[in-house]
Amino acid sequence: MGKVSRIEREKRTVRRMIDLYCRLKEGNARRCAACDTLLAYACTRLNRCPFGENKPSCQRCTVHCYKPAMRAKMREVMRFSGPRMLFHYPLDALRHLCANLFSLKGNATTPPRGKNEI
Ligand SMILES: [Zn+2]
Repeated sequence: MGKVSRIEREKRTVRRMIDLYCRLKEGNARRCAACDTLLAYACTRLNRCPFGENKPSCQRCTVHCYKPAMRAKMREVMRFSGPRMLFHYPLDALRHLCANLFSLKGNATTPPRGKNEI
């Protein structure tokens, strides 16, 4: 298997988080239309991320590229699925965590902001 790019990995993580949210929180057997839209939107944003492969984790990104409605929904998804990812996909969750830690240093583009501000 070849190396999966950072962006592709990020998309996979986002998809899993959205799926968890849709299944466990909303109780849908399959991803619903709203979550499908959110996922498609997230993937488009990732494809167009100006940082490309060097992108910082979205929590730390200075470019707030989501439009408000999508950002609100994504935040809800992250809040719900974030902790659950540890149980369902520990590797993904750890990688995500590491990416956050590493981006704390050597991220020249951003002054650190408040932790709650995403
Ligand atoms: Zn849903």
